[in-house]
Order: sequence, then C-alpha cells, then structure tokens
Amino acid sequence: MKPLIAGNWKMHGAPDWYDYPSRFNALLPENDRKALDILMCPPALFIESLVRKSSELNIHVGAQNCHAETSGAHTGEISTEMLKSVGARFVIVGHSERRADGEMDADILAKALAAIRGGITPIVCVGETLLERESGHANNVVTAQLVASLGGVDLTTGPEIVVAYEPVWAIGTGMTATPDDIVAMHARIRAYVGPKIRILYGGSVKPNNAKEILKAPNVNGALIGGASLDMDSFAAIAKAAL
Ligand code: PEP
Repeated sequence: MKPLIAGNWKMHGAPDWYDYPSRFNALLPENDRKALDILMCPPALFIESLVRKSSELNIHVGAQNCHAETSGAHTGEISTEMLKSVGARFVIVGHSERRADGEMDADILAKALAAIRGGITPIVCVGETLLERESGHANNVVTAQLVASLGGVDLTTGPEIVVAYEPVWAIGTGMTATPDDIVAMHARIRAYVGPKIRILYGGSVKPNNAKEILKAPNVNGALIGGASLDMDSFAAIAKAAL
C-alpha cells in the first residue's frame, strides 16, 4: 500500500505559500518519492493556486472540510463537487477540532458519502480524548466512531477512502501515542476497515519520531499538522516513509 503523507495546514497560510509544493519538491524530488503519495491541505481559498503549482510535481491538494450537499442555501459552505472542480483530490472529514465544535458522527458520515459521490477521497478522522484513554475507553470510542462515521460506506473500494487515527490528546501537544498503542489501535481499525483502506496516524508526528511511527504495522502514512507548515520538516517526515 502506497503510504500517504498528508499535511493539514489548518487556518495557516497566505497567497504566497503557493510555492510550498516547489519548495517541497526541491527537498524531495518527484523521482525520489514515487513510492509515496504527498498531500497538502491548505485553507480552501488557497486550494486552486496550490493545485496550479503542484499538479506537475505530482503533489496532491486537498480540503479540510466539505458540506454534505451538492449545492443550496448553506452560507459559507463548500461542496465536494466545488472542491473537485478546482482540483482537490482529498478532503479531511471529522477532524477532532471540528468534532469539538459540534460535528457529529452522522455529519461526518454524510460528508464522507458526499466526498465519494463527488469523486474526492475522504480522510475520515477518529480518535479518543485523554479522559477516554485514561478511563480505558479508547477502544470503544474509536470503534463507535468507525461504525457511526463509516456505516454504509463501501470499504471494499480501497484507495478511495482513508481513515486517520488521531488521538485527540496527541494533536498539537508534542505527545504521541506509544508505538504499542499505535500498533494495537491500528490493528483494531484494520479489522474493521479490511485490507484495502489506508490508515494514517496523526498526532505530533515530527521528523524525529516519524520513522518509528511509519514503520509500525498497519500505519499507511501520517496526517501532520504543525510539522506540515515547514517544508524542511514535512519533507523529512516524507523521507522517513521511504
Ligand atoms: C492534526 O491536526 O491533524 C495533527 C495531527 O496536528 P499535529 O501534527 O500538529 O499534532
């Protein structure tokens, strides 16, 4: 399975960041990363300019959210069809920062189905909070999220769906799950999604821990926040996947 190294820029970026794909390519040229899929997910308004600069470099561009419907009276929202029309290939759905703002599993399922309908690969995020882990509920929480946010999705299609395991307490904190915890949770997710779906790990992935995380069984790439804003670290993480 080709590893996917995905950067979530969150609400960071500016019009002149359009050159990030070429800066990345200078550090890890296309010929040297044929075994990887590279993805940058900037704020939606920068997607189009980034696509123009990245498509020749074989770097994918994705969105951080989408609406479940194709069009309609939904102020401020963007449909997967619109994202696809400007070249987005992936969309993150159910990121814990959005779940914390009230996004529910049912919304995430609707968005994942909309992405598939619109021809974009959803990256469906799941993960437990620190309280849930410390109280011994991590497995149940993640399983419930998988069932509720992927129920009805055809998991036999393979690369058209990606799952990201992101323990909430590891996001942006510098803390990462232990290798044993990652292996155990990814095995559990693999048992649910079957053999064809890529499972990413996310949560403070950095150049210094990437190799150990990325070599774990059933870890098919990483979803990276902070370290994806700096091309030196993003490229170093990608190199660790080779
Ligand atoms: C994320 O936002 O999905 C994430 C994993 O962030 P960070 O790498 O900064 O922990």
